[in-house]
Amino acid sequence: MLASIAARLRRCFARNEDARRAGVEASIAILEARKAASRLRDAIDILPEGIVFLDPDGRYILWNQQYANIYKRSADLFQPGAKLADTLRIGVERGDYPESAGREEEWMQERLNKLFNPDGRHEQTLTDGRTILIEERRTSDGGIIGLRVDITEMKQREASFRLLFDSNPIPMFVYGLEDLSILSVNDAAVKHYGYTREAMLAMSLLDIHHPDESVELSHLGGETSEEHAGRTWKHRKADGAAIDVATFISHLTYEGQRATMIAAVDITERKAAEARVAYMAHHDALTSLPNRILLRVRMEQMIADLRRDARGFAVFCVDLDNFKWVNDTLGHPFGDLLLQGVSARLRAELRGQDTVARLGGDEFAILQADVGKPEDVSPLLARLLAVINEPFDLEGHLVTVGASVGVALAPHDGDDPDRLLKNADMALYRAKAEGKGGFRFFESEMDARVQARRRLEMDLRGAIKDEAFEVHYQPLVSLANGEVRSLEALIRWPHPEHGMIPPSDFIPVAEETGLIAQIGLFVLRRACADAAQWPDGIKVAVNLSPMQFKSGNLLQAVLDALRDAGLAPSRLELEITETLLLDKIEMVIATLHALRALVVQISMDDFGTGYSSLSYLRSFPFDKIKIDRSFVNDIGANADSQAIVRAIVSLGTSLGIKITAEGVETESDLAYLKAEGCTEGQGFLFRKAQPQAAILALLEKPDNGKAAA
Ligand code: C2E
Ligand code: MG
Ligand code: MG
Repeated sequence: MLASIAARLRRCFARNEDARRAGVEASIAILEARKAASRLRDAIDILPEGIVFLDPDGRYILWNQQYANIYKRSADLFQPGAKLADTLRIGVERGDYPESAGREEEWMQERLNKLFNPDGRHEQTLTDGRTILIEERRTSDGGIIGLRVDITEMKQREASFRLLFDSNPIPMFVYGLEDLSILSVNDAAVKHYGYTREAMLAMSLLDIHHPDESVELSHLGGETSEEHAGRTWKHRKADGAAIDVATFISHLTYEGQRATMIAAVDITERKAAEARVAYMAHHDALTSLPNRILLRVRMEQMIADLRRDARGFAVFCVDLDNFKWVNDTLGHPFGDLLLQGVSARLRAELRGQDTVARLGGDEFAILQADVGKPEDVSPLLARLLAVINEPFDLEGHLVTVGASVGVALAPHDGDDPDRLLKNADMALYRAKAEGKGGFRFFESEMDARVQARRRLEMDLRGAIKDEAFEVHYQPLVSLANGEVRSLEALIRWPHPEHGMIPPSDFIPVAEETGLIAQIGLFVLRRACADAAQWPDGIKVAVNLSPMQFKSGNLLQAVLDALRDAGLAPSRLELEITETLLLDKIEMVIATLHALRALVVQISMDDFGTGYSSLSYLRSFPFDKIKIDRSFVNDIGANADSQAIVRAIVSLGTSLGIKITAEGVETESDLAYLKAEGCTEGQGFLFRKAQPQAAILALLEKPDNGKAAA
């Protein structure tokens, strides 16, 4: 009995012990669970997304702070054990979900369906305009875990991007960097390129590039916007037309892939206009040849090449010989035709690496590449001169011009464009001076000559200012009795350093620089004033340069000089040369007639030297012809000269023009001239030109200096 009691007690104690132990263990477990739940809450509270745990019936178990923030209007309804469906319904009734408006029941069903059968993500709009991305998933115990992300800002960015992209007037498209396939295009691109949107979305970027332009794939890929800036490409439209586009890019992620957005501005028109302007700025309008600017660019390029390549190049300056004549006789349209014809012929003689440019007027320049020594130039030079010498058919007018050429060699004669052109031009100048149709290579002494000329010009200006010139007079005498009939005024320039400079040295410079106008006026006035002191019957002859006719006030200048000197017009003779009549300018002839109407006499000087066209004698009624001294000097020994003098004398007799022989130096000359019927002469045999004082002394003598004859 006792044993059974003891056993029962033992069992009882043991049971109590178990129960106590179980109670303790349960308490520990609850504590642990609470700790875990609190840790879980702490963990989910620091997540940026909203998180909610629901049981299999859709009742709230747990949610984080972010979840409550997202649904702040319903947060008061969240209670553990409350059904999400109920909070949702209250929210719908309160108008928290604008998407449900008008279809509340339907919307609720859809939403709960998504909740209990989760499938991917979906978006939800709240009354305050925010957009929430929802993702829900079933948990292993049949419950639901839900994630909420506020994507409002992203949606706004996307919306403004779409707005900018879709309605942008500039064609834009997005292409993937992987395969360059076009992922999106805006309306402007569809309209501008002419493809349908579907067609464009099926194309790759390469399909839009024009096949004429080879594009390196790498250039379409990862370059930065800065590297890309200012790039232009050739694109192709649906109709095959090529367009030039300037593109601007930015990189982005488009639907999950790395992509580039391109804005393509069509600059076809602008490029064409720019090309036209650039062409016009670098080419001569008449001949389409490169102009001086482009010539310099090419020269600079060739000079740069010199540093790499030992061989040099040649610069030709080409000037047409009779261009002015064509222009004046046939008119400017024919002059233009001639220039075009010359350009074509020059161009045809050159190789690809050579250049021919028009410098202006009838001046051309040629760059011959690959010239090592002067001889390398010869074949081309000969060909150029030959083709220019061939007659040109200008709409039925056969015209022969010729050309003179100056050549400078680079680097020998200079290694900058200015110097080379200047030196070639100097050589041209020499070639011209030596007669037409020739060529000259530049030589350094030419430079010295030009320098000397420049100094002469400066001195000449000084002399004009200081009136440093003298006028000497040389008698024209009667061959019959040696009587002085008139005296020719010849200018003299006593230079402080170079002594007496002859007019042949400075008159041409004065003519080229225009200084002759002032010099001529000075001589005219001085000669009239000096002649006024001579005996009444003796005339003064003054040389006129063609330039003096061009100024237009020659007639007035003559009238003024005569009036101021008190000299009768009949005592003035004006000497002109054939060059004046070369241009057959009406104004010149009119001026001559007006002068003659004053009873001033007009002489043709140096007859026989210039172009010696008898038609000049017809164009104006000259009072006197002066046979050039080249026919007079040594006339006794030269049968041709005798024949020429005889012809001129007989011509003068029949036309009623007086004939004077210039340059009578010997008694023999005199005898022959007399024999040929010449009546007046001028020359060292009688007297050299002398200053006014000597002339006055001479004229005072009773025999008028006759003794010399
Ligand atoms: P020109 O009008 O034919 O003048 C005659 C030239 O022949 C003068 O030379 C004179 O000195 C030279 N002469 C005269 N007799 C003889 C001779 O027997 N033998 C030789 N060998 N020569 C003789 P100059 O004074 O040197 O003048 C040369 C040229 O310069 C002139 O030729 C004329 O074309 C020009 N000239 C001179 N003075 C003036 C001027 O005031 N105005 C213009 N525009 N030209 C002038
Ligand atoms: Mg003369
Ligand atoms: Mg003369």
